[in-house]
Amino acid sequence: MKFNSLVIHGGIDGDKHTGAVTVPIYQTSTYTQSAPGVHKGFEYSRTGNPTRQALEKLIADLEEGSDGFAFSSGMAAISSVLMLFNSGDHIIFGDDLYGGTHRVINHVFKNFGIESSFVDSSNLQDVKEAIKPNTKAIFIETPSNPMMKVTDISSIAKISKESNLLLIVDNTFMTPYLQKPLNLGADIVLHSATKYLGGHSDLVAGLVAVNKKSLAEKLHFIQNSVGAILGPQDSWLLIKGIKTLPLRMDRHIYNTERVIEHLQAQSWVTKIHHPKFKSQDNSQKFGGMVAFEVKDKETLDRLIKKFKIFTFAESLGGVESLISVPAQMTHAAVDEDVRKELGITDTLMRASVGVEDIDDILKDLTL
Ligand SMILES: *Cc1c(COP(=O)(O)O)cnc(C)c1O
Repeated sequence: MKFNSLVIHGGIDGDKHTGAVTVPIYQTSTYTQSAPGVHKGFEYSRTGNPTRQALEKLIADLEEGSDGFAFSSGMAAISSVLMLFNSGDHIIFGDDLYGGTHRVINHVFKNFGIESSFVDSSNLQDVKEAIKPNTKAIFIETPSNPMMKVTDISSIAKISKESNLLLIVDNTFMTPYLQKPLNLGADIVLHSATKYLGGHSDLVAGLVAVNKKSLAEKLHFIQNSVGAILGPQDSWLLIKGIKTLPLRMDRHIYNTERVIEHLQAQSWVTKIHHPKFKSQDNSQKFGGMVAFEVKDKETLDRLIKKFKIFTFAESLGGVESLISVPAQMTHAAVDEDVRKELGITDTLMRASVGVEDIDDILKDLTL
């Protein structure tokens, strides 16, 4: 099945018991056993729930992996993946990651003895040089957040294979519609499904997909042991959101192209960050994220007052256009000197271009 069909019919399509065309919400914590240990595949909903299972099979199909896992948030997914490692292990992270990922590494996993280095993952030499005898994994986002740096996943996968490391890719910005990291050599792909996959700013969820049974068994063990699972209602809502992913992404891409052209013509915009300015591959499409710098704080304040379509909020990937100032919002948890080094200035804005009418969106971005 092609991707556009898979989003609708992938995973577990409908309900074989009733003929319902959508997966039912199995709002249950436990399941009858006909004799001790004899059941129909489900014992307890932390371990497995049919609605969640339908979603987990769906993300595995979309990422072309063998197994999928659904968590209560993107951070729960990331944290559960990091629990694959042991005290004393070292992990190399991209230096321009989601702020919450920075926070969980530096203020939670560090306390459990996980060592980390942050490097510009778009620079392959830097990544190679960061490998130590106790390095176990490389964790990247591409394009990165919010500076939109592009890392070549296949090249990083080669480096990680040579040193026997796991390659973990946060694919939130691209989604499997635009990029399939497992096919490029990654071992684990994960998502904040809160963003494009859900697509409607109505839920918080995380998804993981892998293509090796040994990894799948370990992740299932962690998911069941730690318990950061996604509930059946949100699993259902996420399945519904994913059905329109390609339709939404096409409009996000179209609108973002128009926004970039428009911003390029504005005298008060001093810099535009979009992956297309950093990628070697002209045919590659990117999602609806664009960051730009305005010339001063006064311009930023004037712009914010104009917004009718853009909602001033954290998050991204919904049908509605959202805009934020990363230094004060999404990346406030990142130390100020690190922010400066990365170029996250106080006048940098990050837009998640929605699917509204482009004329209305451009009006908001005209002073
Ligand atoms: C939002 C986000 C996360 C965290 O996901 P939550 O669902 O908010 O927990 C992780 N990575 C990226 C790239 C994100 O945008």
